[in-house]
Amino acid sequence: MPELPEVETTRRGIAPHIAGRRIVDVRVREARLRWPVPADLGETLTGRRLTDVRRRGKYLLLDFDEGTLIAHLGMSGSLRICKPGFPPRKHDHVDLVFEGDICLRYHDPRRFGCLLWTAEPPERHPLLAALGPEPLDKAFDGAHLHRLAAGRNTAVKSFIMDSRVVAGVGNIYANEALFRAGIHPARPAGKISLARYRNLGEHIAEVLAASIEQGGTTLRDFVNESGAPGYFKQVLRVYDRAGQPCRVCGEPIRCMRLGQRATYYCPRCQR
Ligand SMILES: [Zn+2]
Repeated sequence: MPELPEVETTRRGIAPHIAGRRIVDVRVREARLRWPVPADLGETLTGRRLTDVRRRGKYLLLDFDEGTLIAHLGMSGSLRICKPGFPPRKHDHVDLVFEGDICLRYHDPRRFGCLLWTAEPPERHPLLAALGPEPLDKAFDGAHLHRLAAGRNTAVKSFIMDSRVVAGVGNIYANEALFRAGIHPARPAGKISLARYRNLGEHIAEVLAASIEQGGTTLRDFVNESGAPGYFKQVLRVYDRAGQPCRVCGEPIRCMRLGQRATYYCPRCQR
């Protein structure tokens, strides 16, 4: 599943090819995504110039001279740059064709993603309005987590994965950050000290930043006619390592379900 680092890597991979260019054609082969692609998207976008590609949480914001296309990659979505004449593969649902013979192609086998248009500032869109701070922004730190956690019995892992608390911390990075901070994922969010939250906040930013840096090595994959960009392999310490020895103490990593999500932790290192 594309998480924040993949979305940021996608942004960096596609932006240089399309920023500043006008849309000359929109081809929708399958409109049934998580929410339908607007029927008039072609009419809306054709002739508009893309001014910027931004990211908010796991959403990509394609800003045009007026209005913004909000894109989410869902469970299995990807975007790549190709020639507009290159034959689409199965699940290549939408093409945005730009001047200069450049196509931004949206691929999504499970169709949980979305492409939605808004003429308003996208920050006010219902999908984005309630999002918490960006984990890599200065506005986000352990004090923010500690303040919001007061009196809450939610497991800390579910708490940091709540996008109203902090935007875009997915399952992999929640597992990894809690391991690095030595905090048990099931600990009630309201029962963690400010000092431990400060440490956790730093680890959340650090694991995401390190992963984005790794993604930098794959940027050229976004210009790839034949396949989806190769999302990078992350160096993970606990995620998906059930039964394998903890990299710090050697104790076997355990797995449990928390809020329906696979949760990995070391019973000795995390309290
Ligand atoms: Zn351990």
